[in-house]
Amino acid sequence: MKRIHSEQLYEEALKHIVGGVNSPSRSFKAVGGGAPVFMKRAQGAHFWDVDDNRYVDYLAAYGPIITGHAHPHITRAIQEAAANGTLYGTPTELEIKMAKMLKQAIPSMDKVRFVNSGTEAVMTTIRVARAYTKRNKIIKFAGCYHGHSDLVLVAAGSGPSTLGIPDSAGIPTSIAHEVITVPFNDAPALKEALDKWGDDVAAVMVEPIVGNFGMVMPKPGFLEDLCRLTRQYGALVIYDEVITAFRFHYGSAQTYAGLDNHEAIAPDLTALGKIIGGGLPIGAYGGTKEVMEQVAPLGPAYQAGTMAGNPASISAGIACLEVLQTPGVYEEMERLTIKLTNGLAGFARQYGIPLTINRIRGSFSTHFCDHPVTNYDEAQDTNGEMFAAFFRAMLNRGVNLAPSKYEAWFLTTAHTEEDIDFTLEAAEASFKEINGSACQ
Ligand code: PMP
Repeated sequence: MKRIHSEQLYEEALKHIVGGVNSPSRSFKAVGGGAPVFMKRAQGAHFWDVDDNRYVDYLAAYGPIITGHAHPHITRAIQEAAANGTLYGTPTELEIKMAKMLKQAIPSMDKVRFVNSGTEAVMTTIRVARAYTKRNKIIKFAGCYHGHSDLVLVAAGSGPSTLGIPDSAGIPTSIAHEVITVPFNDAPALKEALDKWGDDVAAVMVEPIVGNFGMVMPKPGFLEDLCRLTRQYGALVIYDEVITAFRFHYGSAQTYAGLDNHEAIAPDLTALGKIIGGGLPIGAYGGTKEVMEQVAPLGPAYQAGTMAGNPASISAGIACLEVLQTPGVYEEMERLTIKLTNGLAGFARQYGIPLTINRIRGSFSTHFCDHPVTNYDEAQDTNGEMFAAFFRAMLNRGVNLAPSKYEAWFLTTAHTEEDIDFTLEAAEASFKEINGSACQ
């Protein structure tokens, strides 16, 4: 497959855009370097690049595009919103409609505030928790990614880990000192940290189902323990559901049927993003009335946004959620995903490739290793070179994955049986190609 125009554009981009990309996770640095693919059009489950190659897409723009690219219902909603003015700087009725939809799907949120990205949502939940508890420290889990604010770029998974900088430069030590990191799925380690620093801890922040060092479920009882221990010390529980909300069902991880005991695992604050914007920039956070009343103009914790709640993002988000209310959409994504993961596991076995697949409904991660992946250490201890070889082999056969061994594959409502068959054919050939190669 030739990608001459992508290579030319990359040369040009390098002259003007740092690293040639506007988000480091788009770079191919971790998969052998060179030009990333420049896409020019996307429709449904497919991309076309500037050299007119077609790809089946499993990146879904790192999650938001759960209804496939350019879904007509969402496109129409954006067009209508744009025709009525893109930004008002005043409240609109649309924001109320969307807030009600989110509250209905995520009952732990009494009050919501819209922002522009997942980073902003998470960043603000931490400020609100600090304002409420009048404490400074937060506890997070190794390998979880919570956006790029100073507060959470410590032991961060996803892009920072992919590029080997889980502890970013440029974070004042005074801020890094306020963050305590413990292993995911390890309640005794959390207890130990709380025993030591509990009186200073404002919040424990977690991806309740992890999406940033692969897809990783909490072990049974982990979230219950987390909530119980955190509250024993008077700290708040913050769920970062930027990836997980509306991913597995119409609701969030905290209400997902795969996790029991929903009352016991309800958080105080939740951060949202990605899917709720239908492909346009968005974030949101919400929580109990008492905690959210810390936020200005009611309370002393300040948070604002010129673009926040803009009619285009909100309209796209409402339209996306409407599509996801269609009966059977999650079941169909899951059905196709099972077919895909069964096929991948079978071919990996056939060609002697060590592969651990973590699947949660319509998303999954592929780890080149022969141990389970339940925490960040286990995710790091996987074969990055083999992933890179697989990534390139799949790309050359028209399958677009995230260029990182930590990222998930996302199915969308637009993927078809034909896409799965095409992908499995590419995977068989790719496993065959990398089997026996030097990277093993
Ligand atoms: N939290 C989680 C769990 C995420 O996965 C991400 C993005 N991958 C973020 C926060 C940051 O969101 P954004 O990129 O919209 O700032």
